[in-house]
Amino acid sequence: MLTERVWSGNSLRNFHYLIACPETGEALAVDPLEWRMCLDAARRRGWEITQILNTHEHADHTGGNAGLKAATQAKVAAHAGAAARIGGIDRGLHKGDVIKVGRTVELECLDTPGHTMTHVCLLSHTETPALFCGDTLFNAGAGNCYNGGQPEALYDTFASQLARLPDSTRVYPGHEYLARNLEFTLDREPGNEDAQRLLGEARHHDPAKATVTTLGEEKRINAFFRLQNPTVIARLREAFPDIGERPDPKTVFVRLRELRNRW
Ligand SMILES: [Zn+2]
Ligand SMILES: [Zn+2]
Repeated sequence: MLTERVWSGNSLRNFHYLIACPETGEALAVDPLEWRMCLDAARRRGWEITQILNTHEHADHTGGNAGLKAATQAKVAAHAGAAARIGGIDRGLHKGDVIKVGRTVELECLDTPGHTMTHVCLLSHTETPALFCGDTLFNAGAGNCYNGGQPEALYDTFASQLARLPDSTRVYPGHEYLARNLEFTLDREPGNEDAQRLLGEARHHDPAKATVTTLGEEKRINAFFRLQNPTVIARLREAFPDIGERPDPKTVFVRLRELRNRW
């Protein structure tokens, strides 16, 4: 499996991805909003985009479908429950479906509600797994839930699916928000040395060359994976005294999400 991350440079800070078969050069474009950039990137690599995947129905992920489809005749896939809202979908996806790219690439569809209730993540079946996670999981953060989502569902997705993937899994989110998210982690947990170190790099990096984190790293730098950390809980109680001394992980997650909305 070959992967190319395409940095949009737009104000929404979108990341697009091309996932290609090394034998056939066929490629899948993930959330190709700035579709001409994706097309250019594919041409530079000698790849042919034959499929488009939308992780969810928001326009900043689907807005490039029509242009890219017209240019390539690629087939578009998205969560079956989002197909009617997106329009022009050729394949509605369900949990466990496999997307094949060329002869060698297989991507498993995870049904990951929370940011919206019809959101898929793609998990590669490769020696080092890769997770294309749209607006569910960001580097050092979690997607918001105020445009069709539910924080309780997002917690369940994190706890029952994402946290159980191998620590070596590489994380490919739909937007670049690393520095801002690390600042939130450090506001929750000022002594988090891993987050401090990465923030030093993130403030100076060119987003086009931003670090690709792993799930193992996320568990150290992402407050939304650190729900039983005593400092995280103590700091959260300052904002929400009603959660008590020993809140369950779901309560911590939901309140962290609420705090992040106005942070
Ligand atoms: Zn979204
Ligand atoms: Zn988005």
